[in-house]
Amino acid sequence: MSDKPPLTILLCAPRGFCAGVVRAIDVVEAALKRFGPPVYVRHEIVHNRYVVDALKRKGAVFIDELDEAPDGDAPVVFSAHGVAKSVPAAAKARNLFAIDATCPLVTKVHREAEIHHKRGRRVLLIGHAGHPEVVGTMGQLPEGAVTLVETEADVPALAVAEGEELAYVTQTTLSVDDTAGVVAALKARFPAIHGPHKEDICYATTNRQEAVKRVAPACDGLVVVGAPNSSNSQRLREVAERAGCRVARLVQRASDIDWDEFSGLRTLGVTAGASAPEILVEEIIDAFAERYAVTVETVTTADESVFFPLPRELRDAAAE
Ligand code: SF4
Repeated sequence: MSDKPPLTILLCAPRGFCAGVVRAIDVVEAALKRFGPPVYVRHEIVHNRYVVDALKRKGAVFIDELDEAPDGDAPVVFSAHGVAKSVPAAAKARNLFAIDATCPLVTKVHREAEIHHKRGRRVLLIGHAGHPEVVGTMGQLPEGAVTLVETEADVPALAVAEGEELAYVTQTTLSVDDTAGVVAALKARFPAIHGPHKEDICYATTNRQEAVKRVAPACDGLVVVGAPNSSNSQRLREVAERAGCRVARLVQRASDIDWDEFSGLRTLGVTAGASAPEILVEEIIDAFAERYAVTVETVTTADESVFFPLPRELRDAAAE
């Protein structure tokens, strides 16, 4: 009989890679296959160091800004988070071969913002300042045309001119509950405000938060596998904390776990952000299994079958 203490792991499903992340990684791999290295990638293709390092080993070169890409035929890939309009414009001006790995669900938000702007509405973007997706969405419209709203507390301070028509769009990876609060505050102050027909927060963000909400009340602790700069991963940790988990932590690798914090557990929740690969979830479970007699139960709250095809210029490469 094992002398390790028992631990039930409730494994959230869905967790980990979303369709936009799968597509973005496939874009870089297909570009490497078709055109050979180097393939330049502007910004981390997805917010996960393990994924980025694996692509680097295959010949991807990560750059912060387009001017770090040399002139020539090497492809330049834009990340899943989307880019401001000035970025593809600059690539075109330099005759660079740009491939856009922006998630189609982010592109959908870009188009909504554009339509509102064309209809003469001022666009409010609910999101986190400085996140690449927010920078990209704000950059769809001329400077000053988008106003960022980060929290409910920002709403009363919004300066709106008499008769000005308003619309809101949101970042795709926000907290569903916090965003509902901001939207309610906006609608209370501006009853005529226009919003998306269907939520901008994407299916993957929503489903992962729902799974954590189901699992967290039954857990003493919860681990979110993900990177600190991954917005959707951070939100999962907050959801677990609010649901009453004694310890809810975001970890990139098993070596990040503070074992003192996770001592004396009976039930642990495990999930992963949309940019975290399953191999890292397995690494975390294995690390717990070294210290506990682990039983894993999967808790499924939604089935996902979303798939996004590669950009046209790469479809043949994937089929080869
Ligand atoms: Fe697309 Fe949602 Fe994944 Fe972001 S989290 S890449 S919006 S599917």
